[in-house]
Amino acid sequence: MLKFLKQVGDYAKETAQAARYIGQGLSVTFDHMQRRPVTVQYPYEKLIPSERYRGRIHFEFDKCISCEVCVRVCPINLPVVDYEFDKASKKKNLKHYSIDFGVCIFCANCIEYCPTNCLSATEEYEMSTYDRHELNYDNVAMGRLPYKVTQDPMVTPLRELAYLPKGVTDPHDLPPGSRRAGLRPEEIVEQMEPTEAEKEEETAKNA
Ligand code: SF4
Ligand code: SF4
Repeated sequence: MLKFLKQVGDYAKETAQAARYIGQGLSVTFDHMQRRPVTVQYPYEKLIPSERYRGRIHFEFDKCISCEVCVRVCPINLPVVDYEFDKASKKKNLKHYSIDFGVCIFCANCIEYCPTNCLSATEEYEMSTYDRHELNYDNVAMGRLPYKVTQDPMVTPLRELAYLPKGVTDPHDLPPGSRRAGLRPEEIVEQMEPTEAEKEEETAKNA
């Protein structure tokens, strides 16, 4: 008799547990039913990349002094700086520059440490090719600026999640002029600027 009662008790416990798990699963399903779709109709629609997005690197040939700092700071010594040393002027003359984006990990160390700022990250992310060797960009290819998503007449730009107003998850049909959540970098800089009163206080302190 006791054994039978224990079996009934175990069965009831398992039934309650199963019902709880089904409830948990369904709550996730119902939660998703209330959310709006965020599908982007690529390539007719494209998300605007984030402000600090590290895409394909842009190179300015005339600014490069062939110092090879970019090679030394690169975790895989990737940039190829081909130069000739001019004994008369004691200067390096740059011949070619290249980076193989099939190998690059887009860490942006080279951009960060270049002393003449001739490297910069663009928002270009569409670099697919059938042959990975085509991703070895020379200075001419790296000198090309990509089309901005916001300026491409063939594309409808959509605000990326970081740009959407607070509480909005769907980048479609936003009213024009709707404000994004959070501050823009220039607004943060503006906020960090001392006020007139603070400036006067600082001047009084230094006097
Ligand atoms: S660090 Fe800058 S200036 Fe120096 S070789 Fe590299 S790209 Fe040129
Ligand atoms: S982004 Fe990083 S991996 Fe790519 S070339 Fe620059 S330092 Fe090297």
